[in-house]
Amino acid sequence: MSDVRDTVILGSGCAGLTAAIYTARAGLQPLVLEGHEPGGQLSITTLVENFPGFPEGIQGPELIANMKKQAERFGAKFELAHLGKVDLSVYPFRLETGTGEFRAHTLIAASGASARWLGLPSEQALIGHGVSSCATCDGFFFRGKQIAVVGGGDSAMEEALFLTRFATKVTLLHRREQFRASKIMLERAIAHPNIELRTNVVVEEVLGVEEKELRAVLLRDAITGEVEELPVSGLFLGIGHEPNAKMFAGQIDLDEEGYIRTTGNVLTTRKGIVVPGVFACGDVQDRKYRQAITAAGSGCMAALEAEKFLEARGH
Ligand code: NAP
Repeated sequence: MSDVRDTVILGSGCAGLTAAIYTARAGLQPLVLEGHEPGGQLSITTLVENFPGFPEGIQGPELIANMKKQAERFGAKFELAHLGKVDLSVYPFRLETGTGEFRAHTLIAASGASARWLGLPSEQALIGHGVSSCATCDGFFFRGKQIAVVGGGDSAMEEALFLTRFATKVTLLHRREQFRASKIMLERAIAHPNIELRTNVVVEEVLGVEEKELRAVLLRDAITGEVEELPVSGLFLGIGHEPNAKMFAGQIDLDEEGYIRTTGNVLTTRKGIVVPGVFACGDVQDRKYRQAITAAGSGCMAALEAEKFLEARGH
């Protein structure tokens, strides 16, 4: 017999934890499946200065730990599990994790988005040894060093600008001529004396695997095909994020990049028709704002919708 819950929340970042606080306070005893990155993206950042209520800022992991404590105080339960399979064609919904099966009357998808990588084996081998996807987490380790940032969007600009606090030089590598970044961010990067922008370059290989320490990147000119080595101690990926929504493919509508489509802020759909009892919040359904506070806001909305849904069914 599987465990039937009023509410199961997928993900324990800002959105999932806010949904947990609200549903727990409403007496729904939510179960939070913490996912493969417990605490979400805030748990790997440092100082958060724009979350309202903390005039001096707060460390990301501390903010997350506080939210978790707050949810637990009202009865939320947490499990270090990752959703493997979900079946929304049965009710209560069926969820399979590595540790067992759960049934849920309402499901709140708050599974977030994960940083995208280039996918080179040499890049993967050097994660934590010079290669990173989080400038705010790891920039500090590159004081006085030369760094490369990959990407042509706002994330890459933001990372490059942030990294100038530590690095002597930041080379921004973009695979084509036009940038995706907003004008203001691009102009700031161009104007910075310690940032060099290079276009039409592709990272072919990350060098330093044998030494277990990044020493250079091998670049190919996308136009001439010429190859060169750029010596750097740090390589930061700023090439976007992948939504963690693959397990929902075919069951609820996803957009062309795999983000969950929502209507009415947090309601999910299948072929455009609302799927009752399944809600989505945070970065898994937000490719635009991606802020801790917007994730928290949508987590609250998802919780209130779940509560309303259950109430209408006499829970
Ligand atoms: P993005 O806008 O999708 O940009 C991703 C960049 O990475 C693109 O330039 C893309 O190149 C490049 N890229 C993707 N895959 C690559 C690969 N395999 N190899 C090399 N390059 C690759 O993503 P984002 O910069 O993370 O921004 C996402 C959203 O968040 C945007 O709406 C952005 O405005 C917002 N954001 C805002 C701020 C801010 O305002 N402070 C900061 C960060 C993000 P192509 O251009 O060739 O596709």
